[in-house]
Amino acid sequence: MATTLEANRVYNFNPGPSTLPLEVLKEAQAEFLNFQNTGMSILEISHRAKAYDAVHNQAKADILELMGLGDDYEVLFIQGGASMQFDMIPMNFASAEKRGNYILSGSFATKAYKEAEKMGVGYVAASSKDVNFKHIPTQDEIKLSDDAAYLHVCYNNTIYGTEYHYIPETGDVPLIADMSSDILSRPMDFSKFSLIYAGVQKNLGPAGVVVVIGRRSLLEKSPENLPTMLKYDTFYKKNSLYNTPPAFSIYMVGKVASWLKQQGGLAVMAERNKKKASLVYDAIDNSNGFYIGHADKDSRSFMNVTFRLPSEELEAKFVAEALEHKLSGVKGHRSVGGMRTSIYNAMPYEGCECLADFMEKFRKANS
Ligand SMILES: *Cc1c(COP(=O)(O)O)cnc(C)c1O
Repeated sequence: MATTLEANRVYNFNPGPSTLPLEVLKEAQAEFLNFQNTGMSILEISHRAKAYDAVHNQAKADILELMGLGDDYEVLFIQGGASMQFDMIPMNFASAEKRGNYILSGSFATKAYKEAEKMGVGYVAASSKDVNFKHIPTQDEIKLSDDAAYLHVCYNNTIYGTEYHYIPETGDVPLIADMSSDILSRPMDFSKFSLIYAGVQKNLGPAGVVVVIGRRSLLEKSPENLPTMLKYDTFYKKNSLYNTPPAFSIYMVGKVASWLKQQGGLAVMAERNKKKASLVYDAIDNSNGFYIGHADKDSRSFMNVTFRLPSEELEAKFVAEALEHKLSGVKGHRSVGGMRTSIYNAMPYEGCECLADFMEKFRKANS
């Protein structure tokens, strides 16, 4: 058994909530009953306490440091999931005269657009729906409206297993990205984005908080008439402490960010994630058509690998036998079918090795 797997744990390929670094879980366990000599758990202390303040601010600082972003960006912690950002973004930044532009690259991208459409402020700038979201629209396919308030992209499509391999060029139009399923998985020029958000339960922590990283100039002013809790400036002006924040989730995000720094940062993670993904994609590509990948090769995700088997019977058998090998959560989303193996930052290399070995054995036994 690989050293990264404890006897009673499995390799967890679930899309979210998803696997967390074992080191982080153990650290949280060790300080669970008595957080920093407060005599209380982090679950029990006040969000106004000094000990919590340090956790909150360190998590923010570490996220900006990992992304190589400076003082012109601020990190917010908001509840309501990434799905609530689908509402907050058009409410705060779009209007009938300045529409939010959207690229439809998958299911969450479409959900985001539908919220803007409902408010009468949405516009589709590109879509790959006609090919069942097998690829990411290219730069040439993007047609911004003349009145574009922003361009919203979903950087990694969790359900379809596709990911952007370029940063869309938008000129003066602010670029906004849902990075829920690939946040902090690789380095890039994050300063090209005006706002990035992620529900942390995929790649950055447990469920309960969304991390929003935005340009200060964008966050500091929201339309006056919006409900308080739906205005970015409420969170911006109060350091995300206007009301009680989800302290435990933020604490865990901080621990994962610190773990990422210890691993060597995003360049090291990108290298590792690429090798991990290659193991699984090679198992698909070298299977003589037994495994059929959903994503076009040039749009493949490093985080969610989606593929089908020759029949639904074999797919059910694959899921069941995988579990016997301690490979859990490989079943795909109903809209794509087949398998989806989520191999986020916290999935160890050995987990992908075990999966690739299993795929090879299963193919030989069943073809
Ligand atoms: C999971 C997911 C969401 C939805 O996140 P919630 O926090 O459950 O609302 C949105 N976007 C992407 C890319 C996702 O993977």
